Amino acid sequence: MDMRSKARTLSGPVSDPAKLPRWNYDGSSTGQAAGEDSEVILYPQVIFRDPFRRGNHHLLVMCDAYTPAGDPIPTNKRHAAANIFGQIEAEEPLFGIEQEYTLLWKDSNRPLGWPLGGYPGPQGPYYCGIGADKAFGREIVDAHYNACLYAGVNISGINAEVMPGQWEFQIGPSPGISAADELWVARYILERITEMAGVVLSLDPKPIPGDWNGASAHTNFSTKAMREEEGGYELIKKAIHKLQLRHADHIAAYGEGNERRLTGGHETAEINTFSWGVADRGASIRVGRKTEKEGRGYFEDRRPSSNMDPYVVTSMIAHTTLLWEQP
Ligand code: ADP
Ligand code: MN
Ligand code: MN
Ligand code: MN
Repeated sequence: MDMRSKARTLSGPVSDPAKLPRWNYDGSSTGQAAGEDSEVILYPQVIFRDPFRRGNHHLLVMCDAYTPAGDPIPTNKRHAAANIFGQIEAEEPLFGIEQEYTLLWKDSNRPLGWPLGGYPGPQGPYYCGIGADKAFGREIVDAHYNACLYAGVNISGINAEVMPGQWEFQIGPSPGISAADELWVARYILERITEMAGVVLSLDPKPIPGDWNGASAHTNFSTKAMREEEGGYELIKKAIHKLQLRHADHIAAYGEGNERRLTGGHETAEINTFSWGVADRGASIRVGRKTEKEGRGYFEDRRPSSNMDPYVVTSMIAHTTLLWEQP
């Protein structure tokens, strides 16, 4: 969750990430390399327009990180994900990710809208709410929405969430690795905007213990056959069965602190129990009514937490459902 960036000037305009030079940073200052051999190499992978500097030539560049010998460093989860997606291009996988997050006052670490030393009224009026007593931080949310559209991120919507001070944006549907690239860049843009507003972005899965909703990153998935072919729903059910068999492996990779969120309450399934259902928001996996009715569509994995790494989660869903065979 520790996103970092730096800036540099190049001598001419660039529109292709392959034409950008590699760069490096001091990995001993980020806990990613030893002081005596501190260089980590940045490989430019994807470019977006820079919504902060604007203009025609300013770019945001998503990079991943390698040792000088050319091996991905341990926190580089993009490299392995790109390898998995390279094997299944013909399936035309699409992902839609619903990123929930909480906005905190910098000094008190309490969510926006929460009175100092007290609690807001119970949950109910806040989800998709409007009004100064129900929606807290919309300037940030809408600035982020605009900035993502400007950047070229495939952001498909926003809404206020169940807990006051909590919001969601949706990425996608986007093909293969680009969903994860876009989610990371959207998170980056969001933290830059909260920085300007003097507000802190929290991706903690359960920022306030007790009778308050946690924060998730529901991950919606389909292949071309699932969404277009007759019998797509049968393929979805087969995929869900494979996900059930590998439930523990997925939970282990779906975000730190997720056990505080997946309690079985507050629209979640209990962490150790796999379940699925149509229109069931208390299940691990939910299939929409429309998908059931039309016999094709997509499904929603509700287990990933707000702080998950989308490279890990999207590639693992693709691997389990499309490449893995039951031993
Ligand atoms: P919810 O009812 O769970 O709150 P949202 O509307 O917030 O649903 O999010 C639905 C997500 O599903 C969006 O991110 C959207 O991009 C994604 N989605 C829609 N169609 C598909 C599809 N065919 N394959 C994968 N994802 C999809
Ligand atoms: Mn949603
Ligand atoms: Mn939500
Ligand atoms: Mn959802």
